[in-house]
Amino acid sequence: MKRYRISEIFHSVQGEGRYTGVPSLFLRFWGCNFQCRGFGSAPLREVKVERLAEFPVLESGCDTEYAWNPAYRHLSEELTADEICDRLEALVPSFQHPYSGQATHLVVTGGEPMLSQTALVAVLDALAARDNLPNYITIETNGTQAPRQDLADRISRYEGYGSREWFWSVSPKLSISGEAWDAAIRPEVVAAYRMLSNAGQLKFVVDGSDAVWDEVTQARNAFRTVGVDWDATIMPLGATRARLEETQAAICEAALARGYHFSARLHAWLFDNTPGT
Ligand code: SF4
Repeated sequence: MKRYRISEIFHSVQGEGRYTGVPSLFLRFWGCNFQCRGFGSAPLREVKVERLAEFPVLESGCDTEYAWNPAYRHLSEELTADEICDRLEALVPSFQHPYSGQATHLVVTGGEPMLSQTALVAVLDALAARDNLPNYITIETNGTQAPRQDLADRISRYEGYGSREWFWSVSPKLSISGEAWDAAIRPEVVAAYRMLSNAGQLKFVVDGSDAVWDEVTQARNAFRTVGVDWDATIMPLGATRARLEETQAAICEAALARGYHFSARLHAWLFDNTPGT
């Protein structure tokens, strides 16, 4: 039976964007095509821990480095699609909560989950075989990996049921991430996502500088040119409560002045961004 590398599976509230506060089961795949060394000028970290629960909260840089840095590969595990479904169902048996009757969303994240399309297809097929496909699936992606045909087929089938929503939460990386513009801003990739489902948002991490606001405008124009007219949500730079306090009020006001949505990171406020939240 094929096994897929998983960083973590947990139950929490969505902390960012349109569905902030919604109960969600998170499936975090391992691996990313970026490192985002620019966020907060973080040095390469060497943290000696044996269990993910011991991993320290990262105040700058990528806040899920444990989900892609080979130095922390031992914190991940390999599971079959059925084992992944078992873990999800052990947390919440169905995606309609038995107590409230309200939907629990499935959030597929990383690292970069669109590097794990084979695994994602296998998990979707396993959930369908159990008659337990959620009505809401969010893919949290950096928007650089084109959808493959096997995943596209599953999304088309999924979207064929009227009450379901496949939601693209795309976070394109601007220059402050440290990644090169041409590699990070891929309008043709996000346009391919939109062809499969027109439910989505663009999330940009901003440090408040004029240069970054100009890049938000430039990136949005590039996406709109290919038909991706999703609303943009601005998020302040900073992964922890303390860091957010330094920046977020001013960035929120600047986002409002420009007519963008604003999102603090609820999970960082509530749980200080510890793994599993
Ligand atoms: S794309 Fe996301 S997961 Fe990958 S390094 Fe950047 S912030 Fe981290």
